Amino acid sequence: MTTTTHAFAAHAADAPLAPFTFERRDPQPDDVAIDILFCGVCHSDLHTVRGEWGGTLYPCVPGHEIVGRVTAIGNNVTKFAVGDIAGVGCMVDSCGHCPSCNDGEEQYCETTGFVGTYNGPDPVMGGHTMGGYSDHIVVKQDFVLKVTHDEADLAAVAPLLCAGITTYSPLRHWKVGPGQKVGVVGLGGLGHMGVKIAAAMGAEVYVFSTSPSKRDDAKRLGATDLIVSKDPQAMADHVNSFDFILNTVAAAHDLNPFLALLKRDGTMTLVGVPESPHPAPDVGHLVFKRRALAGSLIGGIKETQEMLDFCREHGLTADIEMIRIQDIDAAYDRMVKSDVKYRFVIDMQSLKQA
Ligand code: NAP
Ligand code: ZN
Repeated sequence: MTTTTHAFAAHAADAPLAPFTFERRDPQPDDVAIDILFCGVCHSDLHTVRGEWGGTLYPCVPGHEIVGRVTAIGNNVTKFAVGDIAGVGCMVDSCGHCPSCNDGEEQYCETTGFVGTYNGPDPVMGGHTMGGYSDHIVVKQDFVLKVTHDEADLAAVAPLLCAGITTYSPLRHWKVGPGQKVGVVGLGGLGHMGVKIAAAMGAEVYVFSTSPSKRDDAKRLGATDLIVSKDPQAMADHVNSFDFILNTVAAAHDLNPFLALLKRDGTMTLVGVPESPHPAPDVGHLVFKRRALAGSLIGGIKETQEMLDFCREHGLTADIEMIRIQDIDAAYDRMVKSDVKYRFVIDMQSLKQA
């Protein structure tokens, strides 16, 4: 049995998103059905829709920052009840038994790879998965998160499901905390959450930005200051001083100026996945100070729940601009220009106007 789902989809890399209907499975024994209230707009949605990473399956319904209300549960579901507020992030399934899945790091699933919330192989219906730019979604309970923030904040909670966990996970993994000087490169959706979370973890935070106009915002979000990354003197003032740098930039750029700012044994972790590769960095920056250049992919389900709970305890949500689904292409165009403060969130009620 299936239910007709109303959504917005891209039918080609160069076509605007448009209204689209498709069938979702009805809840199986382990499934939770969720009416989607809000869905955040991640730069990964844009990369996928516009075919920047290759491999996009059309029609493509993006969206992996989903918050909504549970409307039905399968017979085996114990973690959720009808009426609960629930979240869905970037994954809806994984093999469940490889070393990474056993460690609760399903995003690194070693057999099948994790099943993306969109553009992944749909394990039940066949074809490919369709994401949160839609009126409802059906997901295995093990991949559904509990949202306990105030209901008035739910739109601003949605971006935590990707931007929140993608920054929280590396900050935790590299043990960011009090006494450390931490940099966040790029003040966009991921970056602004990285600033808030790193500050809440007790670190001294600096933003590296190409946008000098974001300085006041950087400070309001919890940073000590904003460093204009294109200003060589401003960068030189901080050489050899950072314990950790989280690089969220969505475009290829020179990594060397940032590596030079790390202390001995410091790490820069990349989470941005640009369309084309970064120029290879200078080995000398790594070798002579035993610095590391690393990467990180979202975070596991257990850690995502930990992040949501951490954010609620610290009063953290995203700074959002609410949009209607009909305005999604204009939002993408602004995202390309780094003109987002700091995450677009789609009010899914707007789907009914389509
Ligand atoms: P976003 O909101 O567009 O923010 C990216 C920021 O990067 C911009 O606001 C801008 O900040 C900076 N930037 C953009 N173009 C730049 C350029 N040419 N040179 C230097 N800085 C530039 O994007 P997002 O949603 O945060 O996503 C960021 C990246 O992370 C994307 O590639 C996305 O696909 C990826 N991502 C990865 C994961 C993961 O698991 N690893 C998860 C989610 C997203 P300033 O104005 O401050 O310079
Ligand atoms: Zn994302």
